[in-house]
Amino acid sequence: MLRIFRRTSAVLSVCVGMAFSLWAQEPRKVVKINDSIYMAPMGSNVYLVMTSEGNVVIDTAPERDAREAKELLTAVSQAPVKYIILTHGHADHIGGINLWKQPGTQIIAQRNYVELLNYVARLDGFFSPRNAVVFKGPAHAAGTWAGNYGATIDATILFDEKYEFTLGGVKFELFSTPGETPDHLTVWLPGSRVAFIGDNYAGIGVPEPMSFPNIYAIRGTKPRPALDWAKSIDTVLKLKPEIVLNGHGDPIFGQEEITRRLTRYRDAILYVHDETVKGMNAGEDVYTLMQEIKLPASYNLSQLFGKVSWSVRGIYEGYAGWFDGNPASMYEEPPSSVYPDLVKLAGGPDRVAQLAAEKLQSGKPVEALHLTDVALASDPRNAAALNARIKALETLLDRSQNYIEDGWLRLGIQKAKDTLAAQ
Ligand SMILES: [Zn+2]
Repeated sequence: MLRIFRRTSAVLSVCVGMAFSLWAQEPRKVVKINDSIYMAPMGSNVYLVMTSEGNVVIDTAPERDAREAKELLTAVSQAPVKYIILTHGHADHIGGINLWKQPGTQIIAQRNYVELLNYVARLDGFFSPRNAVVFKGPAHAAGTWAGNYGATIDATILFDEKYEFTLGGVKFELFSTPGETPDHLTVWLPGSRVAFIGDNYAGIGVPEPMSFPNIYAIRGTKPRPALDWAKSIDTVLKLKPEIVLNGHGDPIFGQEEITRRLTRYRDAILYVHDETVKGMNAGEDVYTLMQEIKLPASYNLSQLFGKVSWSVRGIYEGYAGWFDGNPASMYEEPPSSVYPDLVKLAGGPDRVAQLAAEKLQSGKPVEALHLTDVALASDPRNAAALNARIKALETLLDRSQNYIEDGWLRLGIQKAKDTLAAQ
């Protein structure tokens, strides 16, 4: 998860974007976890672990929050920073590395951190506008292409499965726990039974019901292998932590509560994975499974952050790739190449737009949206089609309980309105 999205029951019924901004306005204060661990609750949490021989910083916040996080935590301790540990390489966790780095500071990451950063840099021009939609900010200008392996890698220590060190008598054990990213790691302090698990418990900290994760994030990600994610949660559960500290949101205290929450989360991931696999083996197509697989209410997870249907498709295509078995899909001409012919058959784009409006009236906004795609393929400035499209998108926005979906719907509305206004 790149940014926390906090919801309270009071804002449940309002648009998710508003809930997002409510959280952002909360004053930020340092949080004492125990006598030696403090948390700065930023766009992603920054943790300070104090020992008699110096400090360890776990994650560094997004760049925009990094300075504030450092001010909050250095007010607690100004001892030298001996280690910076990165739970994973997402931008909201690594933005403050340079602020914390001192001569001799070791920076630890799991080895897949290198490829994650190269992947992000390699596709910067692709990701930048998509991230802007999801995170509701301006797209940063993608500069000169960095090349395939052009990322700046700050880590000085990389490990594969496990790494451990002791500082000031405090033992730190680091485990590879791939989940939201392939480079995710868990920091385990056996002495105090504290586990820092990054974003592998996405949606953490919001009042229950919490959210199902993004097994596939539609801003564009490689598949996030569900089985690895579930196994990583098992790795954390086996440690029997008394405190779990997350990349976003509040800590979880108490072994029983930790077990209850993480087990439910793991089982929800496994349920969606297994149902998808069963459907694939039964010869079902991806859209059928997206419609049919529902998370049982007993899991008590919202879809505020991750959507089950997107995850079903992510799992399906993560395993099988893009080919759907239809011979027509093997060729370069997409279905939309014949949309203008269909419009001609229907008697023109206004007729198709009328049909879209009727679909909307009968409670089928997605079908209405598809029909506007058909009409606009024939006449991109058709006012009736653009108006039907805006209405369909607004209907979907009213229904949306997911803040990422929200961003894409708003973009679609804006684009259609811009086209109308330019006439
Ligand atoms: Zn994050």
